[in-house]
Amino acid sequence: MKNGKARQVLVAGGAGFVGSHLCDALLAEGHHVVCLDSFLTGRRRNIRHLYRDSRFDLVEADVVEPLPPRLKRRFDYVYNLACPASPPLYQADPEHTLLTSVLGTRNLLHLCEDTGARLLMASTSEIYGDPEVHPQVESYRGCVNTTGPRACYDEGKRAAETLCFDFERGGRAEVRVARIFNTYGPRLDAFDGRVVSNVITQALAGDPVTIYGDGRQTRSFCYVDDLVDGLMRLMTYEGPPPGPVNLGNPTELTINELVERVLRITDSGSPVTRKPLPVDDPTRRRPDVTRAREVLGWSAKTPVDEGLRRTVAWFEEEREREEGRREDTRTVGAGFSERTPDSAVSI
Ligand code: NAD
Ligand code: UDP
Repeated sequence: MKNGKARQVLVAGGAGFVGSHLCDALLAEGHHVVCLDSFLTGRRRNIRHLYRDSRFDLVEADVVEPLPPRLKRRFDYVYNLACPASPPLYQADPEHTLLTSVLGTRNLLHLCEDTGARLLMASTSEIYGDPEVHPQVESYRGCVNTTGPRACYDEGKRAAETLCFDFERGGRAEVRVARIFNTYGPRLDAFDGRVVSNVITQALAGDPVTIYGDGRQTRSFCYVDDLVDGLMRLMTYEGPPPGPVNLGNPTELTINELVERVLRITDSGSPVTRKPLPVDDPTRRRPDVTRAREVLGWSAKTPVDEGLRRTVAWFEEEREREEGRREDTRTVGAGFSERTPDSAVSI
């Protein structure tokens, strides 16, 4: 175990894509993990393999509500990942998304204040909005449209950051704020509407691959294991308060380039189909990761093609598992291949 001591860790949003990998990594390091999740966008199958581990516990609750009494206990570390991250999903109930970031973070900060735990907030590159500064450095204050459909997420995260730094300034809690850039890997939900899961699912099925707009908008994609390593380093960092820290892979790709790579890796003949660009879709995204490198000694290690190959392999296994399940039950229902990723999103 790193640092030689088993910690008590709460992972809010632990049944989600990133959160479930974080639970795995924390348990692998010997810590005790309580996963707090409402299963709004998370899935039981992401964490089912942990149910038999005596160091793992699950509490089903919504962070917007007062925390259940069984969580009013001592934790060393509280990771706040609870929030839908996919645009169609966080826009499905914008009021709840905003409150999840604001009230949820407040509830968890109070828990930290009461028990002495340190909180890590999963913030986002979205707080930079449609950025005028490129690459995005932590000192850049962002360009967010407060009235648009993405604001419930972006402004919620901005307010959550504000709460964190107010608690830090007031000496009420120790905080760490990670500004996470687009992350991908196994356990992405095939139907939550994000670009990597959409195009892989479409390419494997031989369906048309959807590119929104002209595909020249850029994102920088980080493999999930690298991100989890960065989150854990940031949480355990013991120097002076570092302020917000960008975590992401600076390799910047247009969406057209991402799609080309996925089609090559999957050896798919899927055609490309164009759909309108969503409102306020940011034009470019690339993290300046100088602070993460200097403060945490962290940088993303996994080349994008390697990460995409691992992700594609996982999606292929999922398809096989799903087909096996359908053959077993001989039911015709909402199976893996009956839904389309672009129609997305049954929560
Ligand atoms: P996800 O949707 O897979 O996971 C979010 C988890 O939070 C789910 O298990 C969901 O059920 C849970 N949740 C949502 N609202 C909740 C609530 N009110 N109460 C309790 N649980 C709730 O998303 P993800 O990709 O794993 O993202 C995890 C975190 O990282 C999010 O906070 C997201 O904003 C942040 N983030 C992710 C990315 C990315 O590319 N994946 C980028 C930037 C920031
Ligand atoms: N996108 C796309 N096809 C899809 C899904 C998304 O071209 O099937 C685009 C989307 O418009 C955006 C980029 O891919 O420009 C990343 O989208 P995602 O929802 O994954 O993340 P975010 O917009 O939050 O960065």
